[in-house]
Amino acid sequence: MTARLIDGKAIAAELRGKIAADVARLKAAYDLTPGIAVVLVGANPASEVYVRSKSKAVAEAGMRPFDHKLPDTVSEADLLALIGTLNADPAVSGILVQLPVPEQIDTHKVIAAIDPGKDVDGFHPLNVGRLASGLPALVPCTPLGCILLAKTVHASLAGMDAVVIGRSNIVGKPVAQLLLAENATVTIAHSKTRDLPGVCRRADLLVAAIGRPEFVKRDWIKPGAIVIDVGINRIAGADGKSRIVGDVASDAREVAGAITPVPGGVGPMTIACLLLNTLRAACTQHGLAAPAL
Ligand code: NDP
Repeated sequence: MTARLIDGKAIAAELRGKIAADVARLKAAYDLTPGIAVVLVGANPASEVYVRSKSKAVAEAGMRPFDHKLPDTVSEADLLALIGTLNADPAVSGILVQLPVPEQIDTHKVIAAIDPGKDVDGFHPLNVGRLASGLPALVPCTPLGCILLAKTVHASLAGMDAVVIGRSNIVGKPVAQLLLAENATVTIAHSKTRDLPGVCRRADLLVAAIGRPEFVKRDWIKPGAIVIDVGINRIAGADGKSRIVGDVASDAREVAGAITPVPGGVGPMTIACLLLNTLRAACTQHGLAAPAL
């Protein structure tokens, strides 16, 4: 069997198109333009690249970007003051502080300072708790992207045996919560899991969020399974140039039923889901029904 490739780039482009159409409708009907504030502290090159692509996507969706670049020497108090200003600004529908932040700043304090209704990263403890309680919440973008991709293969994930490798707050745990909300039977595996290959072989749906290049082997995959590869790992290629690979070995596609490529799978969905969260936040803030996309 050769797996169907789940084309995250095309699926994300389609989602972004729908979001842009909804933004245009909001503008026309209510004179409302969703706005997103992206706060970047310091000069981390990877974060700068990511923030640039976010700003481009925000503008393409017809949303208003409010970019704030702070020096890496900024104090925690000054960053918290900026978040307070953004919380109070009605033009700002969503706030995202690019992580990691420099060590003089307490990440937890920063996340907790963001108005939960504007927390488009879905990291605020209130949103984390609402997701865990099965209540409507702003949910983290990459996990949301994973679910949307899996649902392009099977519209319903109900009853599936789902295995998530990784238990980070950013990916593994929220993916597991979202799968539970989709009525999958969920196992969360991690570095202390016994017989990881055996656990993976039970999975109708396998999500790999580990951060280790091609860690999940072909013979760990149940034939026909859906595989969502979240990993982004830079390795040196045979030609000396570096390239990006996922957490799942490339020959796993000979066994899986459907699989996300890396790059071009989960990655493009993250920014599309950030736009989706911003659109939903703006609608909620104005008492409008969020569009069902
Ligand atoms: P973390 O390092 O925070 O978490 C990694 C998880 O993998 C941990 O729970 C860890 O277990 C588990 N793990 C590590 N080694 C093993 C092992 N040998 N066996 C089983 N489990 C193991 O990473 P993130 O969750 O932040 O990210 C995971 C990957 O996803 C990375 O490659 C990252 O770059 C990528 N990523 C991609 C995004 C995208 O947009 N596509 C967005 C965010 C992340 P334990 O808890 O026991 O240590």
